Amino acid sequence: QAPQSRYIYDLAEGNAEMKPLLGGKGAGVAEMYRIGVPVPDAFTVTTTACVEAMKTGQWPATLWDDIVAAMHRLEERTGRTLGGAEKPLLVSVRSGAVQSMPGMMDTILNLGINDTSVEALGAEAGNPRFAWDSYRRFIQMYGEVVEGIAPHIYEDALTAMKQAKGAASDTDLTTEDLQELVAEFKRLSTEALGGAWSTDPMEQLRRAVDAVFKSWNNPRAEVYRRANNISAAMGTAVNVMQMVFGNMGETSATGVCFTRNPSTGAKELYGEFLTNAQGEDVVAGIRTPRRLEEMEQVLPDAYHQLLDTMERMEKHYRDMQDMEFTIQDEKLYMLQTRNGKRTARAAIKVAGDLVDEGIIDKTEAVRRIEPSQLDQLMHPGIDPEAKPEAVTVGLNASPGAAVGSVVFDADTAEERGKAGEDVVLVRWETTPDDIHGVIQAQGVLTSHGGMTSHAAVVARGMGRPCVAGAHELSIDAANKVFSINGRTWHEGDIISIDGSTGEVFDGAVKLIPPSMSEDFERIISWADEVRSLTVRANADNGPDAAKAREFGAQGIGLCRTEHMFMDEVRLPAVQRMILADNEADRAAALEEILPLQQSDFEAIFEAMSGLPVNIRLLDPPLHEFLPGLVEQNLKVQALQLKGAPAEELAKEEALLARVKKLSEANPMLGTRGCRLSLLYPEIPDMQTKAIVRAAIAVKQRGGDPIMEIMVPLVAYPEELKRLREIIVRVADEEIAAAGVSLDYTVGTMIELPRAALVADQIADYADYFSFGTNDLTQTGIGLSRDDAEGSFLNAYIDNDIIPANPFAQIDRDGVGELVRIGVEKGRSKKPTLKTGVCGEHGGDPESIELFNEIGMNYVSCSPFRVPIARLAAARAAL
Ligand code: ADP
Ligand code: MG
Ligand code: MG
Repeated sequence: QAPQSRYIYDLAEGNAEMKPLLGGKGAGVAEMYRIGVPVPDAFTVTTTACVEAMKTGQWPATLWDDIVAAMHRLEERTGRTLGGAEKPLLVSVRSGAVQSMPGMMDTILNLGINDTSVEALGAEAGNPRFAWDSYRRFIQMYGEVVEGIAPHIYEDALTAMKQAKGAASDTDLTTEDLQELVAEFKRLSTEALGGAWSTDPMEQLRRAVDAVFKSWNNPRAEVYRRANNISAAMGTAVNVMQMVFGNMGETSATGVCFTRNPSTGAKELYGEFLTNAQGEDVVAGIRTPRRLEEMEQVLPDAYHQLLDTMERMEKHYRDMQDMEFTIQDEKLYMLQTRNGKRTARAAIKVAGDLVDEGIIDKTEAVRRIEPSQLDQLMHPGIDPEAKPEAVTVGLNASPGAAVGSVVFDADTAEERGKAGEDVVLVRWETTPDDIHGVIQAQGVLTSHGGMTSHAAVVARGMGRPCVAGAHELSIDAANKVFSINGRTWHEGDIISIDGSTGEVFDGAVKLIPPSMSEDFERIISWADEVRSLTVRANADNGPDAAKAREFGAQGIGLCRTEHMFMDEVRLPAVQRMILADNEADRAAALEEILPLQQSDFEAIFEAMSGLPVNIRLLDPPLHEFLPGLVEQNLKVQALQLKGAPAEELAKEEALLARVKKLSEANPMLGTRGCRLSLLYPEIPDMQTKAIVRAAIAVKQRGGDPIMEIMVPLVAYPEELKRLREIIVRVADEEIAAAGVSLDYTVGTMIELPRAALVADQIADYADYFSFGTNDLTQTGIGLSRDDAEGSFLNAYIDNDIIPANPFAQIDRDGVGELVRIGVEKGRSKKPTLKTGVCGEHGGDPESIELFNEIGMNYVSCSPFRVPIARLAAARAAL
């Protein structure tokens, strides 16, 4: 393919389809222009130019000439000159990636303003104040973005100026104040740089474009891309656009609007604006804006025109739009449109409503919901019954409940969050620089900024609960304390926030488990119509099984019996069983455990009546049920020192001897799974009895238990053959004795590479296969699950040595291939062999795609991921 020779497109040459080349922003404005929506004139430098510049470290040879030519065309079309002494042209230089990354990269406004053009601009508008306001904004943005000057240098000077003049807001500063401020900004810039920067507007343009290219790789952009799985190779486009001014006085304004509520999805007005301001003030959360409804009073014509445009754009794109606008002296301009980022709840509501409105069909609705996003809906909410009392209320910027300890900066949030602590990030406002902290926090609380600020947009996109603009909050970040009406909270104090209502609570409020809303059920039921994979749940007890069924699980894919061994009543009996040195004692201990296991199974069969329940025989190594070697050693030593009674000492010594004997250097590859059952056949014997007796009891009570009994960690067909004999013998005896008619099947886990490779031989003894992809990943890659995540694995992922954590997302080429081989070999023996997956991967959308492709019958995942898996299975089938 020939190299991309064209790096520039004028506004009139673009359209929505050209997003990969022009970025979302560039394609969006071109499309608006194309259909007659008023947008300022512009041209776009393509993403290709950025990619090439990043790759080689220098601009493509012709790029600068192309930009100069495009600028001349823009000057001609507008009848203005960049930075001219008469009719000056001012432009913005805007970043714009293919996939939107709100606020993560840089934009420079008012480029072209200088000591001469500022006068011309003021005179032309009959408003010198606005011209000087634009000038001070330019110095600040250019200084920060292009010259890398610390933002606080300008912020401090602005604050000092406001204080000196008794101005509450920057809009209270007069022309003279602003002139003074510009002089001060220039002085500070020169001081910071050790020299003045070039005031040639074309040179500034060149440097601004370069800075925008580079902002593709700034740290917050990188963090955001990683969190959102956006490829680092795509690059940003650069949009050079004629400035329109929302800061020309009270007949001018700027704002952001959504065509529907991005929090709830409701079809209602949702937006904010500020008069006499530029866009950054709203989107960067510098001032808390006003509700869009109020604009009807202030600027009625522009307001109605905006509403019409919103409706039109939504119809045009057939999706909710997030739009930026500016009103210059009562005339409306649209500056950006994109498919609005939304919460999962809103995504579901909007997709459902668009189907009802006849705008999209059901399949399209299913396609529009990102399965991983549904995770948000499966988190606990605040228990309304508990009626907690709010200490203050802010804006409900992103729904959901968050409980955690207060932290005041993003670094601390990141550090503690990563360490596993639940934290709530409390900030004056959040800026895109806080992104790493927001990712790790449970929720975000700010005292400033509105609902359309970048912070709120990002929080919603990530499903992070957020309460913004809680004015009563007074934050002293330096001393790590905030107060509300005289009451104070320190770093580490627990608070709760409800991003759905904007309420803030002291302490930890009571939470309740999630449930599925009607809108949610509806979309998922559309998904069910298209998927072919069945979705089961992993559950070890009745309540979890019932919950799973509520979420639509079509059976239990994995019931781990060892969890039932761990509780305090059973553990002593389990330990007696392990310590027994003869079969009779072991049988006696097992006898005690049997009825307890049976009652657990009954509860599960009841909850899953009519649906299959796959129960796995004991899997973990026995030492997991005993104290640790070091611990027991110390205990014995202590007893010896203290001169404990001989009997007590002997008991602990015996335990120590057993612990020593059972301890293995590599327990995960040791005596576990079917190996254990073959060594101690009393165990599968007892477990089969418990399972079958439970099924009989449930059947006799009128239930419909469907039993599947599964043998773990099989590597050799012979292992399964022998265990199958035990299971079948015991089960048949029990069923015959009860005189009921009851079916069951016996299957195996495929979780060792050898098992996958000899799956045809194993299939002789298996009624079904369940792929244990956790262990298959561990043994297939040779990657210790318990150690790798804490050590090199994260570094591997961060450095792109591997694309993702293979324990979360299946390693398609390696482990995935083992699964494929296992399925194919198994079916070569038994064409209708049922195959499923019960590892963590069973709930992961990417992995589900592969399992669907291989033609497996079902996936199984934790109850709360069942709806996600149902949707993912449908999308895989589309
Ligand atoms: P971001 O991706 O951070 O939102 P934008 O490029 O959209 O960056 O610009 C930041 C703000 O500046 C937005 O509010 C936008 O509407 C405003 N803006 C950008 N270009 C212009 C322009 N030509 N005239 C007026 N305002 C502009
Ligand atoms: Mg924007
Ligand atoms: Mg396993």
